[in-house]
Amino acid sequence: MSIEGKHVIIVAGAGPAGMAVAVALAKAGHEIIILNRDIKFGGLAEYGIFPSKLKLRGGLKKQYWELLDRPNVHYFGNVSIGNGKDLTVEDVRTLGADAVVFSIGAQGTKAIGVEGDSAKGVFHAKDVVYHFNRLPGFGDRPFDMGRHVAVIGAGDVMVDIAHWLVRYKKVERVTAIVRRGPAERKYNPKEIRSVCANMDLPGIASEVARIKDRLAAVGQNPDDVLKGLTDEFTKCEPKISETQMGFKFLASPKRILVDGNNRVRGLEMEDNKLDPKGEDTVAVGLKQYYEFPCDAVIFAVGDKVDETVGLPYKSGMFVTNPNKTGNDPDDALFQAFDESTGKVVDGVFLAGWARKASEGLVGIAKRDGDWCAEVVGRYLSVKTQGSHSDVKTVLDKLGATLKARKSHPVNAEGLRLLESSEKGHWGEDCIGEFKFASNREMIELIERGRA
Ligand SMILES: Cc1cc2nc3c(=O)[nH]c(=O)nc-3n(C[C@H](O)[C@H](O)[C@H](O)COP(=O)(O)OP(=O)(O)OC[C@H]3O[C@@H](n4cnc5c(N)ncnc54)[C@H](O)[C@@H]3O)c2cc1C
Repeated sequence: MSIEGKHVIIVAGAGPAGMAVAVALAKAGHEIIILNRDIKFGGLAEYGIFPSKLKLRGGLKKQYWELLDRPNVHYFGNVSIGNGKDLTVEDVRTLGADAVVFSIGAQGTKAIGVEGDSAKGVFHAKDVVYHFNRLPGFGDRPFDMGRHVAVIGAGDVMVDIAHWLVRYKKVERVTAIVRRGPAERKYNPKEIRSVCANMDLPGIASEVARIKDRLAAVGQNPDDVLKGLTDEFTKCEPKISETQMGFKFLASPKRILVDGNNRVRGLEMEDNKLDPKGEDTVAVGLKQYYEFPCDAVIFAVGDKVDETVGLPYKSGMFVTNPNKTGNDPDDALFQAFDESTGKVVDGVFLAGWARKASEGLVGIAKRDGDWCAEVVGRYLSVKTQGSHSDVKTVLDKLGATLKARKSHPVNAEGLRLLESSEKGHWGEDCIGEFKFASNREMIELIERGRA
Protein backbone atom coordinates (compact mmCIF):
# COMPACT_ATOMS: atom_id res chain seq x y z
CA MET A 1 0.00 0.00 0.00
CA SER A 2 1.20 3.59 -0.62
CA ILE A 3 2.07 5.21 2.69
CA GLU A 4 1.98 8.75 4.11
CA GLY A 5 1.02 10.36 0.83
CA LYS A 6 4.14 8.96 -0.86
CA HIS A 7 3.38 7.18 -4.09
CA VAL A 8 5.07 5.02 -6.70
CA ILE A 9 5.29 6.65 -10.12
CA ILE A 10 6.59 5.06 -13.29
CA VAL A 11 8.20 7.41 -15.77
CA ALA A 12 8.56 5.82 -19.20
CA GLY A 13 11.25 7.59 -21.22
CA ALA A 14 14.38 9.24 -19.76
CA GLY A 15 14.75 12.24 -22.09
CA PRO A 16 14.66 15.83 -20.86
CA ALA A 17 10.86 15.72 -20.29
CA GLY A 18 10.81 12.44 -18.36
CA MET A 19 13.84 13.42 -16.31
CA ALA A 20 12.13 16.70 -15.35
CA VAL A 21 8.99 14.80 -14.26
CA ALA A 22 11.19 12.43 -12.26
CA VAL A 23 13.20 15.23 -10.60
CA ALA A 24 10.09 17.11 -9.46
CA LEU A 25 8.27 14.04 -8.14
CA ALA A 26 11.40 12.53 -6.54
CA LYS A 27 12.02 15.82 -4.73
CA ALA A 28 8.44 15.62 -3.45
CA GLY A 29 9.45 12.31 -1.84
CA HIS A 30 7.71 9.85 -4.19
CA GLU A 31 9.33 6.62 -5.37
CA ILE A 32 10.22 6.88 -9.05
CA ILE A 33 10.80 3.98 -11.41
CA ILE A 34 12.26 5.02 -14.77
CA LEU A 35 11.88 2.69 -17.75
CA ASN A 36 13.90 3.71 -20.81
CA ARG A 37 14.29 2.17 -24.28
CA ASP A 38 17.91 3.23 -24.60
CA ILE A 39 20.51 1.87 -22.20
CA LYS A 40 21.60 5.43 -21.50
CA PHE A 41 19.38 8.21 -20.18
CA GLY A 42 19.06 11.57 -21.92
CA GLY A 43 16.96 10.78 -25.00
CA LEU A 44 17.74 13.35 -27.68
CA ALA A 45 20.02 15.13 -25.22
CA GLU A 46 22.25 12.07 -25.68
CA TYR A 47 21.33 11.02 -29.22
CA GLY A 48 19.95 14.19 -30.89
CA ILE A 49 21.82 17.31 -29.79
CA PHE A 50 24.90 17.74 -31.96
CA PRO A 51 27.65 15.64 -30.39
CA SER A 52 30.24 18.43 -30.35
CA LYS A 53 28.03 20.56 -28.04
CA LEU A 54 29.93 19.21 -25.08
CA LYS A 55 29.03 21.97 -22.61
CA LEU A 56 25.27 21.65 -23.08
CA ARG A 57 25.38 17.86 -23.05
CA GLY A 58 27.73 17.74 -20.04
CA GLY A 59 25.49 20.09 -18.02
CA LEU A 60 22.42 17.96 -18.69
CA LYS A 61 24.27 14.74 -17.92
CA LYS A 62 25.37 16.11 -14.56
CA GLN A 63 21.77 16.95 -13.61
CA TYR A 64 20.57 13.53 -14.70
CA TRP A 65 23.25 11.77 -12.65
CA GLU A 66 22.16 13.75 -9.60
CA LEU A 67 18.67 12.38 -10.12
CA LEU A 68 19.82 8.79 -10.50
CA ASP A 69 21.91 9.06 -7.35
CA ARG A 70 18.76 9.61 -5.25
CA PRO A 71 17.74 6.55 -3.22
CA ASN A 72 14.08 6.91 -4.25
CA VAL A 73 14.89 6.72 -7.99
CA HIS A 74 15.17 3.31 -9.69
CA TYR A 75 16.50 3.26 -13.27
CA PHE A 76 15.86 0.52 -15.84
CA GLY A 77 17.57 1.24 -19.15
CA ASN A 78 17.25 -1.05 -22.19
CA VAL A 79 13.53 -1.58 -21.46
CA SER A 80 11.22 -0.79 -24.37
CA ILE A 81 7.50 -0.39 -24.03
CA GLY A 82 5.14 -1.37 -26.80
CA ASN A 83 3.49 -4.33 -28.42
CA GLY A 84 6.04 -7.11 -28.81
CA LYS A 85 8.61 -5.17 -26.74
CA ASP A 86 9.94 -5.84 -23.21
CA LEU A 87 6.67 -4.59 -21.68
CA THR A 88 3.31 -3.62 -23.14
CA VAL A 89 1.51 -0.48 -22.02
CA GLU A 90 -0.92 -2.78 -20.16
CA ASP A 91 1.99 -4.55 -18.41
CA VAL A 92 3.25 -1.20 -17.19
CA ARG A 93 -0.19 -0.08 -16.04
CA THR A 94 -0.71 -3.24 -14.03
CA LEU A 95 2.63 -3.22 -12.19
CA GLY A 96 0.86 -1.50 -9.29
CA ALA A 97 2.20 2.08 -9.54
CA ASP A 98 -0.07 5.00 -8.66
CA ALA A 99 0.60 6.85 -11.92
CA VAL A 100 2.49 6.33 -15.16
CA VAL A 101 3.95 9.16 -17.22
CA PHE A 102 4.81 8.43 -20.85
CA SER A 103 7.60 10.77 -21.94
CA ILE A 104 8.86 8.54 -24.74
CA GLY A 105 9.43 11.33 -27.26
CA ALA A 106 8.32 11.35 -30.89
CA GLN A 107 9.86 8.18 -32.31
CA GLY A 108 7.73 7.86 -35.46
CA THR A 109 8.74 9.34 -38.76
CA LYS A 110 6.40 11.50 -40.82
CA ALA A 111 5.66 9.72 -44.07
CA ILE A 112 7.70 11.38 -46.73
CA GLY A 113 4.96 10.66 -49.19
CA VAL A 114 6.64 11.43 -52.49
CA GLU A 115 7.10 8.91 -55.25
CA GLY A 116 10.47 7.18 -55.06
CA ASP A 117 11.00 7.79 -51.35
CA SER A 118 12.22 4.23 -50.82
CA ALA A 119 15.16 4.76 -53.19
CA LYS A 120 18.75 4.28 -52.04
CA GLY A 121 20.02 7.62 -50.80
CA VAL A 122 16.73 8.85 -49.25
CA PHE A 123 16.89 9.32 -45.49
CA HIS A 124 14.80 10.61 -42.63
CA ALA A 125 16.64 13.27 -40.62
CA LYS A 126 16.20 11.43 -37.32
CA ASP A 127 18.00 8.37 -38.65
CA VAL A 128 20.92 10.50 -39.79
CA VAL A 129 21.02 12.34 -36.48
CA TYR A 130 20.91 9.03 -34.61
CA HIS A 131 23.73 7.81 -36.87
CA PHE A 132 26.17 10.62 -36.09
CA ASN A 133 25.17 10.48 -32.42
CA ARG A 134 25.88 6.71 -32.43
CA LEU A 135 22.50 5.46 -31.20
CA PRO A 136 22.66 1.65 -31.21
CA GLY A 137 21.09 0.38 -34.41
CA PHE A 138 22.15 3.49 -36.35
CA GLY A 139 25.73 4.31 -35.32
CA ASP A 140 27.35 1.39 -37.10
CA ARG A 141 25.21 1.46 -40.29
CA PRO A 142 26.68 3.07 -43.42
CA PHE A 143 24.96 6.28 -44.53
CA ASP A 144 26.22 6.82 -48.07
CA MET A 145 25.63 10.44 -49.01
CA GLY A 146 27.38 10.80 -52.38
CA ARG A 147 28.68 14.22 -53.38
CA HIS A 148 25.65 16.53 -53.44
CA VAL A 149 23.09 16.25 -50.65
CA ALA A 150 19.67 17.95 -50.63
CA VAL A 151 18.34 18.52 -47.11
CA ILE A 152 14.62 19.30 -47.07
CA GLY A 153 13.74 21.79 -44.32
CA ALA A 154 14.68 25.17 -42.90
CA GLY A 155 14.92 24.48 -39.16
CA ASP A 156 17.63 23.66 -36.65
CA VAL A 157 17.64 19.98 -37.57
CA MET A 158 18.43 20.90 -41.21
CA VAL A 159 21.35 22.99 -39.89
CA ASP A 160 22.62 20.16 -37.63
CA ILE A 161 22.63 17.80 -40.58
CA ALA A 162 24.38 20.37 -42.76
CA HIS A 163 26.91 20.77 -39.93
CA TRP A 164 27.70 17.06 -40.11
CA LEU A 165 27.83 17.04 -43.91
CA VAL A 166 30.05 20.13 -44.11
CA ARG A 167 32.45 19.57 -41.22
CA TYR A 168 32.63 15.77 -40.91
CA LYS A 169 31.44 14.10 -44.14
CA LYS A 170 32.95 16.97 -46.15
CA VAL A 171 30.68 16.33 -49.12
CA GLU A 172 31.01 18.54 -52.19
CA ARG A 173 27.73 20.42 -51.89
CA VAL A 174 24.77 20.75 -49.52
CA THR A 175 21.54 22.43 -50.59
CA ALA A 176 18.76 23.24 -48.14
CA ILE A 177 15.43 22.89 -49.93
CA VAL A 178 12.95 25.39 -48.50
CA ARG A 179 9.21 25.41 -49.27
CA ARG A 180 8.84 29.12 -48.64
CA GLY A 181 11.35 31.98 -48.92
CA PRO A 182 14.44 33.16 -47.03
CA ALA A 183 12.32 35.35 -44.73
CA GLU A 184 10.45 32.28 -43.49
CA ARG A 185 13.58 30.35 -42.43
CA LYS A 186 13.12 28.75 -39.02
CA TYR A 187 16.60 28.01 -37.76
CA ASN A 188 18.27 29.82 -34.89
CA PRO A 189 20.84 32.29 -36.34
CA LYS A 190 23.43 31.08 -33.80
CA GLU A 191 23.23 27.54 -35.19
CA ILE A 192 24.14 28.62 -38.74
CA ARG A 193 27.62 29.61 -37.45
CA SER A 194 28.68 25.98 -37.71
CA VAL A 195 28.36 26.10 -41.52
CA CYS A 196 28.33 29.73 -42.63
CA ALA A 197 32.03 29.79 -43.58
CA ASN A 198 31.06 27.39 -46.38
CA MET A 199 28.17 29.40 -47.81
CA ASP A 200 28.13 29.80 -51.59
CA LEU A 201 27.39 33.54 -51.42
CA PRO A 202 27.19 34.20 -55.21
CA GLY A 203 24.90 31.16 -55.55
CA ILE A 204 22.64 32.43 -52.76
CA ALA A 205 22.48 35.90 -54.32
CA SER A 206 21.44 34.46 -57.68
CA GLU A 207 18.87 32.19 -55.99
CA VAL A 208 17.24 35.22 -54.34
CA ALA A 209 17.39 37.07 -57.69
CA ARG A 210 15.60 34.06 -59.30
CA ILE A 211 12.63 34.44 -56.95
CA LYS A 212 12.66 38.24 -56.55
CA ASP A 213 9.32 38.87 -58.27
CA ARG A 214 7.58 36.31 -56.08
CA LEU A 215 9.02 37.92 -52.94
CA ALA A 216 8.02 41.40 -54.10
CA ALA A 217 4.47 40.14 -54.78
CA VAL A 218 3.98 39.67 -51.02
CA GLY A 219 5.66 42.94 -50.10
CA GLN A 220 9.10 41.51 -49.33
CA ASN A 221 12.04 43.57 -50.62
CA PRO A 222 14.43 41.04 -52.20
CA ASP A 223 17.54 43.09 -51.31
CA ASP A 224 16.46 43.34 -47.67
CA VAL A 225 15.61 39.65 -47.59
CA LEU A 226 19.04 38.70 -48.96
CA LYS A 227 20.77 41.04 -46.50
CA GLY A 228 18.74 39.60 -43.58
CA LEU A 229 19.78 36.09 -44.57
CA THR A 230 23.47 36.75 -45.18
CA ASP A 231 24.00 39.21 -42.30
CA GLU A 232 23.55 36.20 -40.01
CA PHE A 233 26.64 34.61 -41.53
CA THR A 234 28.89 36.13 -38.86
CA LYS A 235 31.09 34.57 -36.17
CA CYS A 236 31.32 31.56 -38.48
CA GLU A 237 33.31 28.58 -37.22
CA PRO A 238 36.62 28.35 -39.14
CA LYS A 239 36.32 26.64 -42.50
CA ILE A 240 37.67 23.09 -42.49
CA SER A 241 36.26 21.71 -45.75
CA GLU A 242 35.66 22.86 -49.31
CA THR A 243 31.93 21.99 -49.13
CA GLN A 244 29.69 24.63 -50.73
CA MET A 245 26.36 25.21 -49.01
CA GLY A 246 23.39 26.87 -50.69
CA PHE A 247 19.61 27.11 -50.68
CA LYS A 248 16.78 26.43 -53.07
CA PHE A 249 13.80 28.56 -52.08
CA LEU A 250 10.10 28.36 -52.98
CA ALA A 251 10.63 24.71 -53.84
CA SER A 252 8.63 21.57 -52.98
CA PRO A 253 9.99 18.11 -53.85
CA LYS A 254 7.36 16.15 -55.77
CA ARG A 255 9.23 13.05 -56.83
CA ILE A 256 12.56 11.36 -56.17
CA LEU A 257 14.33 10.67 -59.48
CA VAL A 258 16.34 7.46 -59.53
CA ASP A 259 18.88 5.74 -61.77
CA GLY A 260 18.76 2.12 -63.01
CA ASN A 261 19.98 0.88 -59.59
CA ASN A 262 17.16 2.68 -57.74
CA ARG A 263 19.70 5.17 -56.44
CA VAL A 264 18.80 8.86 -56.12
CA ARG A 265 19.87 11.00 -59.08
CA GLY A 266 17.76 14.05 -58.31
CA LEU A 267 14.47 15.58 -57.31
CA GLU A 268 11.54 16.70 -59.35
CA MET A 269 10.72 20.03 -57.80
CA GLU A 270 7.66 22.24 -58.04
CA ASP A 271 8.10 26.00 -57.97
CA ASN A 272 6.01 27.77 -55.33
CA LYS A 273 4.78 31.30 -54.83
CA LEU A 274 3.90 32.92 -51.55
CA ASP A 275 0.39 33.97 -50.60
CA PRO A 276 -0.25 36.20 -47.60
CA LYS A 277 -2.06 34.57 -44.67
CA GLY A 278 -2.73 37.02 -41.86
CA GLU A 279 0.67 38.21 -40.66
CA ASP A 280 2.32 35.15 -42.23
CA THR A 281 2.61 33.56 -45.69
CA VAL A 282 1.77 30.18 -47.18
CA ALA A 283 3.46 28.38 -50.07
CA VAL A 284 1.26 27.69 -53.09
CA GLY A 285 2.41 25.34 -55.86
CA LEU A 286 2.65 26.87 -59.33
CA LYS A 287 2.49 23.55 -61.22
CA GLN A 288 5.82 24.42 -62.84
CA TYR A 289 8.28 21.60 -62.44
CA TYR A 290 12.02 21.21 -62.87
CA GLU A 291 14.73 18.66 -62.19
CA PHE A 292 17.22 19.25 -59.41
CA PRO A 293 20.23 16.89 -59.54
CA CYS A 294 21.56 15.46 -56.25
CA ASP A 295 22.95 12.16 -54.88
CA ALA A 296 21.07 11.95 -51.58
CA VAL A 297 17.94 13.46 -50.05
CA ILE A 298 17.40 13.95 -46.32
CA PHE A 299 13.94 14.92 -45.09
CA ALA A 300 14.19 17.19 -42.02
CA VAL A 301 10.50 17.99 -41.73
CA GLY A 302 9.64 16.97 -38.15
CA ASP A 303 8.56 13.79 -36.39
CA LYS A 304 5.43 12.14 -35.07
CA VAL A 305 4.85 9.81 -32.14
CA ASP A 306 5.17 6.04 -32.48
CA GLU A 307 1.64 4.76 -33.07
CA THR A 308 2.68 1.15 -32.44
CA VAL A 309 3.35 1.71 -28.72
CA GLY A 310 -0.25 1.02 -27.75
CA LEU A 311 -1.33 4.37 -26.33
CA PRO A 312 -4.47 6.02 -27.78
CA TYR A 313 -3.28 7.60 -31.03
CA LYS A 314 -4.68 9.88 -33.71
CA SER A 315 -3.11 11.82 -36.60
CA GLY A 316 0.53 11.63 -35.51
CA MET A 317 -0.18 12.31 -31.82
CA PHE A 318 -1.11 10.46 -28.67
CA VAL A 319 -4.63 11.55 -27.73
CA THR A 320 -5.04 13.84 -24.72
CA ASN A 321 -8.22 14.77 -22.87
CA PRO A 322 -10.18 17.28 -25.00
CA ASN A 323 -12.22 18.46 -22.00
CA LYS A 324 -10.63 21.40 -20.25
CA THR A 325 -10.29 21.23 -16.47
CA GLY A 326 -9.68 24.91 -15.79
CA ASN A 327 -6.47 24.30 -13.86
CA ASP A 328 -3.24 26.06 -14.71
CA PRO A 329 -1.46 24.15 -16.21
CA ASP A 330 -4.53 22.53 -17.68
CA ASP A 331 -4.53 18.95 -16.39
CA ALA A 332 -6.45 17.78 -19.47
CA LEU A 333 -3.52 18.55 -21.75
CA PHE A 334 -1.39 15.93 -19.98
CA GLN A 335 -4.03 13.20 -19.48
CA ALA A 336 -4.11 10.29 -21.95
CA PHE A 337 -7.62 9.93 -23.38
CA ASP A 338 -9.34 6.94 -24.97
CA GLU A 339 -11.75 8.18 -27.64
CA SER A 340 -13.34 4.73 -27.97
CA THR A 341 -14.61 4.92 -24.37
CA GLY A 342 -14.76 8.70 -24.18
CA LYS A 343 -12.80 8.53 -20.94
CA VAL A 344 -9.49 9.64 -19.52
CA VAL A 345 -7.06 6.69 -19.18
CA ASP A 346 -6.88 6.69 -15.39
CA GLY A 347 -3.43 7.43 -14.02
CA VAL A 348 -1.73 7.73 -17.44
CA PHE A 349 -0.08 11.03 -18.39
CA LEU A 350 1.96 12.36 -21.32
CA ALA A 351 4.85 14.83 -21.33
CA GLY A 352 7.38 16.39 -23.71
CA TRP A 353 7.61 15.38 -27.36
CA ALA A 354 5.29 12.43 -26.62
CA ARG A 355 2.63 15.08 -25.96
CA LYS A 356 3.66 17.55 -28.67
CA ALA A 357 5.98 16.06 -31.28
CA SER A 358 9.04 18.12 -32.30
CA GLU A 359 8.04 20.98 -29.98
CA GLY A 360 11.04 23.09 -29.07
CA LEU A 361 14.38 22.73 -27.37
CA VAL A 362 15.43 20.97 -24.17
CA GLY A 363 14.20 23.90 -22.04
CA ILE A 364 10.67 23.51 -23.46
CA ALA A 365 10.69 19.74 -22.87
CA LYS A 366 11.90 20.29 -19.30
CA ARG A 367 9.16 22.85 -18.66
CA ASP A 368 6.61 20.41 -20.06
CA GLY A 369 7.91 17.78 -17.63
CA ASP A 370 7.68 20.24 -14.74
CA TRP A 371 4.07 21.05 -15.66
CA CYS A 372 3.22 17.40 -16.02
CA ALA A 373 4.66 16.72 -12.55
CA GLU A 374 2.32 19.40 -11.15
CA VAL A 375 -0.62 17.70 -12.82
CA VAL A 376 0.43 14.28 -11.52
CA GLY A 377 0.89 15.81 -8.05
CA ARG A 378 -2.71 17.07 -8.12
CA TYR A 379 -3.92 13.65 -9.27
CA LEU A 380 -2.06 11.88 -6.44
CA SER A 381 -3.25 14.34 -3.82
CA VAL A 382 -6.88 13.26 -4.29
CA LYS A 383 -6.16 9.61 -5.00
CA THR A 384 -7.49 7.10 -2.49
CA GLN A 385 -4.62 5.66 -0.49
CA GLY A 386 -4.17 1.94 -0.25
CA SER A 387 -5.29 0.92 -3.70
CA HIS A 388 -1.77 0.48 -5.00
CA SER A 389 1.40 -1.36 -4.06
CA ASP A 390 4.55 -0.22 -2.26
CA VAL A 391 7.72 0.27 -4.25
CA LYS A 392 9.25 -3.07 -3.30
CA THR A 393 6.22 -4.96 -4.57
CA VAL A 394 6.22 -2.98 -7.83
CA LEU A 395 9.97 -3.50 -8.32
CA ASP A 396 9.66 -7.23 -7.60
CA LYS A 397 6.86 -7.60 -10.12
CA LEU A 398 8.79 -5.57 -12.69
CA GLY A 399 11.94 -7.64 -12.10
CA ALA A 400 10.04 -10.93 -12.47
CA THR A 401 8.31 -9.79 -15.67
CA LEU A 402 11.56 -8.62 -17.27
CA LYS A 403 13.25 -11.88 -16.29
CA ALA A 404 10.43 -13.91 -17.81
CA ARG A 405 10.75 -11.87 -21.03
CA LYS A 406 14.54 -12.45 -21.08
CA SER A 407 15.14 -8.69 -21.07
CA HIS A 408 18.48 -7.17 -20.06
CA PRO A 409 17.72 -4.08 -17.99
CA VAL A 410 20.64 -1.82 -17.12
CA ASN A 411 20.60 0.04 -13.79
CA ALA A 412 22.48 3.13 -12.63
CA GLU A 413 25.42 1.06 -11.41
CA GLY A 414 25.75 -0.50 -14.88
CA LEU A 415 25.64 2.96 -16.44
CA ARG A 416 28.50 4.07 -14.18
CA LEU A 417 30.63 1.17 -15.39
CA LEU A 418 29.78 2.04 -18.97
CA GLU A 419 30.56 5.71 -18.51
CA SER A 420 33.97 5.10 -16.98
CA SER A 421 34.86 2.69 -19.76
CA GLU A 422 33.76 5.13 -22.49
CA LYS A 423 35.85 7.89 -20.92
CA GLY A 424 38.91 5.67 -21.37
CA HIS A 425 38.31 5.69 -25.16
CA TRP A 426 38.46 9.50 -25.51
CA GLY A 427 39.83 10.67 -28.83
CA GLU A 428 38.77 7.68 -30.92
CA ASP A 429 36.88 8.07 -34.18
CA CYS A 430 33.72 9.78 -32.84
CA ILE A 431 32.39 13.33 -32.91
CA GLY A 432 32.64 14.64 -29.34
CA GLU A 433 32.79 11.95 -26.69
CA PHE A 434 33.43 8.30 -27.50
CA LYS A 435 30.31 6.09 -27.47
CA PHE A 436 29.84 2.40 -28.06
CA ALA A 437 27.47 2.04 -30.99
CA SER A 438 25.79 -1.26 -30.09
CA ASN A 439 23.77 -2.53 -27.12
CA ARG A 440 25.67 -5.82 -27.25
CA GLU A 441 29.04 -4.12 -26.67
CA MET A 442 27.60 -2.05 -23.84
CA ILE A 443 25.95 -4.98 -22.08
CA GLU A 444 29.03 -7.21 -22.41
CA LEU A 445 31.16 -4.47 -20.95
CA ILE A 446 28.80 -3.90 -18.02
CA GLU A 447 28.66 -7.64 -17.32
CA ARG A 448 32.46 -7.90 -17.43
CA GLY A 449 32.72 -4.91 -15.06
CA ARG A 450 30.40 -6.62 -12.57
CA ALA A 451 32.16 -9.98 -12.69
C1 LIG B 1 18.50 16.77 -34.26
C2 LIG B 1 18.08 17.46 -33.00
C3 LIG B 1 18.93 18.39 -32.44
C4 LIG B 1 18.57 19.06 -31.28
N1 LIG B 1 19.44 19.97 -30.77
C5 LIG B 1 19.11 20.65 -29.66
C6 LIG B 1 20.01 21.61 -29.10
O1 LIG B 1 21.10 21.83 -29.62
N2 LIG B 1 19.62 22.26 -27.97
C7 LIG B 1 18.41 22.01 -27.36
O2 LIG B 1 18.12 22.62 -26.32
N3 LIG B 1 17.52 21.13 -27.89
C8 LIG B 1 17.83 20.43 -29.01
N4 LIG B 1 16.97 19.53 -29.55
C9 LIG B 1 15.63 19.36 -28.93
C10 LIG B 1 15.67 18.41 -27.72
O3 LIG B 1 16.50 17.31 -28.00
C11 LIG B 1 14.23 17.99 -27.38
O4 LIG B 1 13.53 19.17 -27.01
C12 LIG B 1 14.12 17.04 -26.20
O5 LIG B 1 15.09 16.03 -26.24
C13 LIG B 1 12.72 16.37 -26.14
O6 LIG B 1 12.67 15.66 -24.93
P1 LIG B 1 11.68 14.42 -24.64
O7 LIG B 1 12.07 13.94 -23.28
O8 LIG B 1 10.28 14.83 -24.84
O9 LIG B 1 11.99 13.31 -25.74
P2 LIG B 1 13.36 12.50 -26.12
O10 LIG B 1 14.55 13.36 -25.86
O11 LIG B 1 13.12 12.01 -27.47
O12 LIG B 1 13.39 11.31 -25.07
C14 LIG B 1 12.57 10.18 -25.19
C15 LIG B 1 13.10 9.05 -24.32
O13 LIG B 1 12.13 7.99 -24.36
C16 LIG B 1 12.76 6.76 -24.57
N5 LIG B 1 11.83 5.93 -25.34
C17 LIG B 1 11.43 6.08 -26.60
N6 LIG B 1 10.54 5.14 -26.95
C18 LIG B 1 10.38 4.36 -25.86
C19 LIG B 1 9.61 3.20 -25.60
N7 LIG B 1 8.82 2.67 -26.54
N8 LIG B 1 9.70 2.63 -24.39
C20 LIG B 1 10.52 3.17 -23.42
N9 LIG B 1 11.26 4.27 -23.62
C21 LIG B 1 11.18 4.86 -24.82
C22 LIG B 1 14.04 7.07 -25.34
O14 LIG B 1 15.02 6.06 -25.06
C23 LIG B 1 14.41 8.44 -24.78
O15 LIG B 1 15.29 8.30 -23.67
C24 LIG B 1 17.31 18.82 -30.69
C25 LIG B 1 16.44 17.87 -31.25
C26 LIG B 1 16.82 17.19 -32.40
C27 LIG B 1 15.88 16.19 -33.01
